[in-house]
This record gives sequence, structure tokens and C-alpha cells, in this order.
Amino acid sequence: MWKGEKSVMIKVCKFGGTSMADGTNLLRVKAILDSDEARRYVVVSAPGKRFGGDIKITDLLYETAKDVRETGRTGEAFEKVKDRFRGIVRELNLDFDIETLLLGTEGEILRENSEDFAASRGEYLSGRVMAALLGIPFIDARAVVKFDAAGKLDGERTFSLLREALKGKPRAVVAGFYGEDYRGKVKTFSRGGSDISGAIVARAAGADLYENWTDVSGFLACDPRIVPSPARITALSYKELRELSYMGADVLHSESIFPVREADIPIRIKNTFRPEDEGTDILPTSKYRFTGRTVTGIAGKKNFTVIFIEKSLMNAEIGFTHKVLGVLFKHNISFEHMPSGIDTMSFVIDSEQLKNGVLEEICEDIKAAVSPNNLRIYDDIALIAVVGHGMSRNVGTSARLFGAIAGAGINVRMIDQGSSELNIIVGVDNENYERTLKAVYDEFFTEA
Ligand code: ASP
Repeated sequence: MWKGEKSVMIKVCKFGGTSMADGTNLLRVKAILDSDEARRYVVVSAPGKRFGGDIKITDLLYETAKDVRETGRTGEAFEKVKDRFRGIVRELNLDFDIETLLLGTEGEILRENSEDFAASRGEYLSGRVMAALLGIPFIDARAVVKFDAAGKLDGERTFSLLREALKGKPRAVVAGFYGEDYRGKVKTFSRGGSDISGAIVARAAGADLYENWTDVSGFLACDPRIVPSPARITALSYKELRELSYMGADVLHSESIFPVREADIPIRIKNTFRPEDEGTDILPTSKYRFTGRTVTGIAGKKNFTVIFIEKSLMNAEIGFTHKVLGVLFKHNISFEHMPSGIDTMSFVIDSEQLKNGVLEEICEDIKAAVSPNNLRIYDDIALIAVVGHGMSRNVGTSARLFGAIAGAGINVRMIDQGSSELNIIVGVDNENYERTLKAVYDEFFTEA
């Protein structure tokens, strides 16, 4: 519950692939929508997996696009798509002419011969079925979500077209994941992009809340594969989410926060299969209330390489950093962190980028550019981000953090504290990754 939550009038609800996977789940979605009048606008994904090993409709459609490109015909994958939608309509006992719709869609996929167009049909068809089930209008995202010539969302046009389309419609279903490019062709967001569509609709509708319905009950404070049954995060700020999601906590598409953040709209992650669970609220600063917790969440990733450079009087040498950055730029390398000392500087880089001799070339170029006294490489480094607004408020956070890591007998390879004091990044050897996460979790989450 945040400040002002009681006055919520309009909710935009996005339902993910599992929520749309079969007829039974669509009925769950309908029950969720029917139970709250504020849930007025609905954004849907394509049907996802019904069980482990099942194939998502979107993946079948990418396969279909390949078939069309290679053979000029839709193949077996599209037969499966048709069967899935027929099955859903049958299960729902809906009076809806799915055959004609599928036939028309197949013709369009052949004519368009475009990967994005084919992939978008999962959301288009599931949106059409959902609108029929709810008995409310369907809005084709093609007419309202527009991309500019650079392939970026054209926010201004999109919001005004959508606002216009929603006007006079107390309820509606909008297909997620796609829009139209500047040439009038269908274009999709990147995978998982219906989250972005939901945020766009929330913004255009002037929603008080963007509910993102998925198959988990929100964010956990740590990876459950490493720490058994970690605490649930009931509320976090947009900034905390950003730090955690770039380090691998992936419940929500990372780009989906931008449209709602600018309009101060909170996001709530909810579980379609356990609607009674509280979920996680992602809040703009104006609505965020400090919970008293020191650390909000812990996330991490393995497989980084550290390039360590040492040179006496580096601090006095004008242009030193510029030259080193020039080498990284030349090789098209992005880095995650750059911890530095008076005569030292390190770059933490995702090892994936340094394969096939790239690392060796970079080292040679750095030597040529700045003649360091010492250039060392540390491989197989894992990064752990400890995130929370509470860290700057509570004295002694880093003492506790490093005490816990030392207590577990783990050597810290690198430390970087973000200048916002919102996070501390710790680098350890890959092999100590799991043990570090556990030690840090125990320190901050099993407190009395
Ligand atoms: N259906 C798309 C995908 O599988 C988009 C989404 O579900 O958000 O990536």
C-alpha cells in the first residue's frame, strides 16, 4: 500500500504468456478482471507454455516465418499455432469464428513474408479472443503504437493516438508486443516486449496503477536457485529495480519502466495463479516509503574479466583515461564498472565480449597507448550487487557486508560503490559466487 493508493480509479492489466496459455487460464484472467471495476484496460501476450517442454506461440511463429522465407509456405509450426487457438476457443465455448480469422492471418503472413509480422500474430490473435471473451472492444496495436525511422518508440505519436483510441471506451483489450514502423510495416519490441506495451497503455490511459500479471508472485530478494525460499520484496523503487534487473533479476522487461516512470505510475507484479498473494510494488520516488530494511535485494552474475592497469603518477597524466577508453571504444567493448585508485584503474567487462583473441588485442593496444608499469588480467570473476536505499541510511552497512563475506572465508577481488549509495558491487571468484550470495543474504535477511 502506498500513499494515495485508495483513490485508484484506472488500472491497466498486462497478462503474460502463461496466463494466456489455455482456456482455463483465460477464465482465470476474466475472473481477475471481473473482480475489480478499476481493471479497465487489458494488454495481452501470446499464449505461452502450458507445461515444461511446451512451445510458446511466439516461438512457433518465428518458425513459421522461417518456413515462409525458405519454402514460400507456412509449415507444421503454423498448424500447431492454429490448433492451439482452436483449442482455446473450444475450451471457452466461445461463439467466435476462429477459422476465418486463422485463414486470413495465414494469408497475411504469406503476403507480408516478415519475421516481425508473423511473430506479432500471437498477440493479435490472443487479443482478439480475449476481447471476445470479455465482450469489449479490441484495439490493434498497429494503429496506435508507432516507431520512428530509427526504430525507437515514437512516444508522442503513440500516446496521442492511444489516448484518442481509448476515448469513449470504458474498457478495451490491446494486443501487446508490436506496433507499426514509419513505413507502415508491423514491428515488434524485443522478446518479452508486451511488458513495454502494457506500460505504454498505462501511460496513455492515465492509469493510477499498472498491474503486470505473471506466473510468479513478484520479486524475490535473492535467486531462489541459490538461497532456498528467499524473502519476497513487497515494495521497491524504480531505481532499485533498475540495479537489480540489470544484474539478472528478470521478472519484468527492463525497458518497461520508462513510459510509466515519467508519469509517476506504480507497477504491481501479481501472480495470475495466486491472485491473493500481495506481489511486488515498484514505486516512483514520490510514492516510495522507506521500509526500514537495509538491503532490498541481492543479485549477481558470473563470468566477468577484470583488466587491471597500474602506472605511477597516473593521476597526474592528463588524458590517461581517455587513451584507455579509446582502446575499448576502438574494439567496440562496453564495460560494467571502472573502479580506480590513485595509480591504478580497472575495467570490469563481460567475458563474452573478450573471446577469440579480443582480450589479447586490447592488452597490446593498452600497452602501446599508455605504457603501464603493470597490466594484469583477472578472469572468472562474479559480480554481486547489494541494492537498497536503506544502505545509505544505516551506518555500518559495508562493515556488515564485508564482515559476512570474510566470515565465510571468501576473498573479495573488487569493490565498487555506486555514487548514489544505492548499491555496492562486490567482485569475487566465480567459484565463490553462490557462497557469497548466501553469506550476504544471511547477514541482511535473517536478522531479527
Ligand atoms: N510473446 C512475446 C515473447 O514471447 C512477447 C511477450 O510475451 O511479452 O517474447
